[in-house]
Amino acid sequence: MSFFARLFLLLACYFAAAPGLVSAAVPGSTAPQRSECPVLDAADTQARMAIMHYVCFHQTSPGDRAHSATRPDELPGDFKWTPSRGHELVFTQTSSVYWVRLNLRNNGSERRLWYLNLNYPLLDEVTFWQGDGPGDVVVTGDQQPFHSRAIDYRYFLLPIILDSGETRTVTMRIQSSGALNIPLRLETPAELIAESNQLAITHGLFFGAVLVLAIFNLLLLFSSGTLYYLHNALYMLAMGLFLFAMGGFANQYFWPESPEFANIFIPLTLVLCTLAMTLFGRSFLEVEKYTLADKTLNAIIWICAGFIGLTLTLPYSQAILFNTALGLATIFILSIIAVSRWRQGYQPAKWYVLAWMVMAAGSLIYASAAFGYLTDFLARESLMQVAIGGQIILLNYAMVQRWQLLSDKLLEVEQAARSDLEYRVHERTAQLRSTMRELENANRKLATLSLNDPLTGLYNRRHMDNVLPELCAEARRTGQPFTIALVDADHFKVINDTWGHGFGDTCLQLIASTLTRHMKRPRDITIRFGGEEFALLLPGTDTVGAQKVCETLLQDLQTTTVNGPDGKSAHLTLSAGIASLLPDEDQQALFERADSALYEAKARGRNQTIIAGI
Ligand code: GH3
Ligand code: MG
Ligand code: MG
Repeated sequence: MSFFARLFLLLACYFAAAPGLVSAAVPGSTAPQRSECPVLDAADTQARMAIMHYVCFHQTSPGDRAHSATRPDELPGDFKWTPSRGHELVFTQTSSVYWVRLNLRNNGSERRLWYLNLNYPLLDEVTFWQGDGPGDVVVTGDQQPFHSRAIDYRYFLLPIILDSGETRTVTMRIQSSGALNIPLRLETPAELIAESNQLAITHGLFFGAVLVLAIFNLLLLFSSGTLYYLHNALYMLAMGLFLFAMGGFANQYFWPESPEFANIFIPLTLVLCTLAMTLFGRSFLEVEKYTLADKTLNAIIWICAGFIGLTLTLPYSQAILFNTALGLATIFILSIIAVSRWRQGYQPAKWYVLAWMVMAAGSLIYASAAFGYLTDFLARESLMQVAIGGQIILLNYAMVQRWQLLSDKLLEVEQAARSDLEYRVHERTAQLRSTMRELENANRKLATLSLNDPLTGLYNRRHMDNVLPELCAEARRTGQPFTIALVDADHFKVINDTWGHGFGDTCLQLIASTLTRHMKRPRDITIRFGGEEFALLLPGTDTVGAQKVCETLLQDLQTTTVNGPDGKSAHLTLSAGIASLLPDEDQQALFERADSALYEAKARGRNQTIIAGI
């Protein structure tokens, strides 16, 4: 920042100190300091470099006789030439007529050609005289058709051919509605071509780059729909066209036969530049609606619209003055807004501010050159192009920064959404898992409920139906014995009838626990398949083993004393029917054989075990 502050200070000093004539440094000058116009030896390169030591001029105000004179021989007798004494001819007065004289002599041994080069394209009327003949007068200027120039070039060139030893006086009459520079050079054709080549490359690069970037921004507009690309493209196009016209190219290439366009075109492109940069600034800096900054920018936009109308009606000198002032004020206001946006933490504003600083420096230099405050218009033009080029690059970089910021934000939002989604999925999965676990538990409970008898806790008939076929199949496969024993409580009806169903249930629970206690092997299964009917499934056990188990448990129950609610003892006995699976038998037949055996046990007096016959 301090660099720009110093630059502005330097420029301010330059403006404050700008005189009508500005000193031009002349290396190793040995030029004469006489009051009359000295003669320049065109063959002497050193002398040609010090041309401003040989030029004389006369500034005439309206009302002077010399002001109304249109030819050198109409100049009054008391007309006095002022030697420029090495100073550049720079004037801010707009209504004057300037007479300029240069005496030339060819001290060389050969007849040669030189070009007197007037390097300022914006002069309204320029007339050259180098003799009295009709071919010795060139009436031109940017208000004349382009073909009026002696040479087809954006600056004014006067070819001068001198014989060896010949002396010639060149007189110029210059009138322009704006402030003006009269930068003169005397160059050989080789020097002129070299200079022209170099300028062609730099100008070509500059205008080419501006055009390409403008087109690129238009393409970005079409692909993204973001409006500030259009504003940026408009700005670059307006700025490019303004400089094109200011550099004299528009007169040469756009309207060589209609120079009056330049007087409207230059101030018009300038105000369009201001309009485009305001529109761009407003959208790029994301200026909040209805704030002071927003209102100011809106006001500038309306002023620009008004100035477009004014430009079409006002004379060039006023229009260019107003539009330049508006442009500089707008740059100043945009810079302030951009700095405040930067301070608010809006990062792309940093590059925007930098771009505007470069632009402001360039504009000040250019405006000062155009209004006659700075010499060497050509050098200022290049400097301005560097400044504008720098600004355009920085502005485009600012847009890249903004794009980066937006894409970072987008990425952040995307990541936040993704992690939110991941969190939700995680949460849902956890919920689902716990629900599934609950469901599994419920299922297990349901399965237990559906396969178990709630009173005794033993397996029920459904479980027996499930496992019996499997156990039969296994026994057939392995050749191991498989025996079932059907056990039924004797005269249980009497128990119920005597002590009630509640006591009957307690007795059934006692019977169940007795049965379970006697099932010693891990694979033995006890089932309550009816009211007071039980089944013992005994895989790997033959009839003898089963009979032993049954008799032991019958014995056990018989000797267990059970007291009813009235304190009287109840006698619980069981009858059992045993059957072992035969090789070709199914579970149905096996069950029926065991049931028959049980029936027989009942018939034989109960409280006993019968093995089914084959
Ligand atoms: P038997 O010696 O011939 O088997 O005679 P029983 O009385 O035991 O046989 P019966 O089939 O005539 O009667 C069975 C009785 O078992 C009928 C019913 O009162 C009783 N009973 C069946 N289920 C239950 C039960 O869940 N709770 C109770 N308390 N009693 C039951
Ligand atoms: Mg029964
Ligand atoms: Mg019974």
